[in-house]
Amino acid sequence: MTTPALPSLLRAGLRCRCPRCGEGALYTGFMRVVDHCSVCGLEIARNDSGDGPAVFLIFILGFTIVPVALLVSLRVDWPLWLHVLIWGPVIMGATVGMLRPAKGVTIALQYGYRRDEFDT
Ligand SMILES: [Zn+2]
Repeated sequence: MTTPALPSLLRAGLRCRCPRCGEGALYTGFMRVVDHCSVCGLEIARNDSGDGPAVFLIFILGFTIVPVALLVSLRVDWPLWLHVLIWGPVIMGATVGMLRPAKGVTIALQYGYRRDEFDT
């Protein structure tokens, strides 16, 4: 089987779908990866994405939200507790909201570029 193209891998990962067929659900529950794809039978759970998705999110959110927070803090004179009240939920919401797609993309990229670990 040929390696899927990068756009289809990213699309499947962002949609939290199986990286091989793009149809089967990747998760059961919030973050638990399914054992096998319900459509094509790909064994998914054996492959561990580890800390990769969290590291991606640390970099992506750190480089996007922190500059915005700093810019806002330079332009407005809010007390510190108000910054915590605003930026805390923003960061938590973005992290929780992006964790599933980030893990899906990591698993899809592992499937695309480290296929031997899926096939064995
Ligand atoms: Zn599948």
